[in-house]
Amino acid sequence: MLEARDLMVFYENMLALNNVTIRCEAEEIVGVFGANSAGKSTLMYAISGIMEDIRKKEEMAGGERITILGTITYLGQEITRVKPSKRAKMGIILCPERRRIFKESSVLENLRIGAYLASPSQARETMDYVFTIFPALQKLKKRVGGFLSGGEQQMLAIGRALMAQPKVLLLDEPLLGLSPLIQAILVRTTKEIRDEKKISIVITEQYARPVLPIIDYGFILENGAAVLEGTREELLGNPDVRSAYFGV
Ligand code: ATP
Repeated sequence: MLEARDLMVFYENMLALNNVTIRCEAEEIVGVFGANSAGKSTLMYAISGIMEDIRKKEEMAGGERITILGTITYLGQEITRVKPSKRAKMGIILCPERRRIFKESSVLENLRIGAYLASPSQARETMDYVFTIFPALQKLKKRVGGFLSGGEQQMLAIGRALMAQPKVLLLDEPLLGLSPLIQAILVRTTKEIRDEKKISIVITEQYARPVLPIIDYGFILENGAAVLEGTREELLGNPDVRSAYFGV
């Protein structure tokens, strides 16, 4: 349902994504794994369309030249040049790296801001849903985002993304810097969200191991190139992959 084909992104002459093709089918959880600087965020920006905005802003400001090549299709429609706001309306919602919640706004306000694409009844329903899957947030409704722990901020960031009614949720390194216990909660909840909301999820991580149990399919990025892909079983069955990426 979502495919990025032969994607190339240059920051000036620096090739950040080199001919990357990735796919995510309906109701799948797809993992994209790679070390620091492998190109994970660039890929998420390209799929969500934010890369187009960054490119235009840089061009207007006379800053660095960003070039994007390749095609992105969603539900049979090419969206390579479609604005990020329109992609969000189509259901492609990014939950960005390092959470980026509104630190001065309360939990409730953050969630309401996320609901800009939802009808009032969808917003009410989704807010209840967010508090069901993240009960920790329920008690913190009035607290401002900046005073939440890292794990709570990540729950809020995912909650805010859900408020926008995603059909494809892009989670960029949601586990970064969090304790194994919080990571386990977030991984379990990610699967619950897919199962209950019947949406597709693309999740990037530096370390594959914590999310491996929930992915249907995975890609490995190295220096901007997709060097390997396969089902969870295929990736796990590859001895090089096991030791290099999964630490198992
Ligand atoms: P991380 O885990 O550090 O977030 P990543 O896999 O998300 O890494 P990207 O952020 O996509 O990697 O970066 C890919 C490459 O592109 C890196 O070498 C990075 O330094 C470079 N890069 C990213 N943004 C820019 C930019 N605006 N200008 C120039 N180079 C950039």
